[in-house]
Amino acid sequence: MKNPFESGDVRVTSLYGERGGEFHKGIDLVGTSSTRIVAVEDATVAVSTMVTDRQNKTWEWGNYVRLDLDDGRRLYHCHLSQRLVRAGERVKKGQVIGIMGDTGKAYGAHLHWELRPQGFSTESLDICAYSGIPNRLGVYDAKTDEELPEKTVDAAFREGDGITLVKGAVYTNGVKVPAQYIGKTYTVAQTGVGRVLVRELYSWVENRYVKKVSAAAPQKPEEQKGYRTGDRVKIKQGAVYTNGVKVPSRYLGQKYTVAQVLSGRVLIRELNSWVADEYVERA
Ligand SMILES: [Zn+2]
Repeated sequence: MKNPFESGDVRVTSLYGERGGEFHKGIDLVGTSSTRIVAVEDATVAVSTMVTDRQNKTWEWGNYVRLDLDDGRRLYHCHLSQRLVRAGERVKKGQVIGIMGDTGKAYGAHLHWELRPQGFSTESLDICAYSGIPNRLGVYDAKTDEELPEKTVDAAFREGDGITLVKGAVYTNGVKVPAQYIGKTYTVAQTGVGRVLVRELYSWVENRYVKKVSAAAPQKPEEQKGYRTGDRVKIKQGAVYTNGVKVPSRYLGQKYTVAQVLSGRVLIRELNSWVADEYVERA
């Protein structure tokens, strides 16, 4: 694949294509070990600028560098924190042209990378077809194009972490998170590559819109036991049913069967009663 970062791997954080009723004309990328943006082929710097006039929609790009490829196609590098080349310059493949940033309309540092045809069209070309970067959230090894396994790349959040969503957050389907949900505390229900499932909102949000406010408590060994339907268990001394009623002593020490499992509790088939995991042990 063509890697616009000087070194390291590439995380795809937002896809090329339909995004919540709009068409995202580029792909959003974050370098896993470099923030230095390079020319992926020999080209001419056509534009190196920042538009600050908000009447002009181009302000959304922040600091951007447009390279004109030798076949005339135009390659845009947006939201840079710094531009390191000037219009008119000739650049070589691999030459650093800027630093990744979050200028313009960006929430969190990333590179918006977009390809357009020769001329004055505002139409985009398929940046993924051009670059070989998969149009799929994930982290990709720039040398082998292999997708890297989730757990090695996503230590950022864990199930149970307390989080808030930052201003401007969008769900991964591209829909804007309503203002009243911003700044509230939520819980991570599940993690994926570059994104988390917010338990209270039943929605996925990209990591860059998420701030951790508290870390998940380490899992207790009991919780990792993970009873399954059909397991044989005994009930411990002092056990109570989940409704608070004490389990009669004649039921203690006997072998029972798990009929159903819910978070933190099991249904004992023979007693047709729920008991918390902490009162149960394997028989
Ligand atoms: Zn973008």
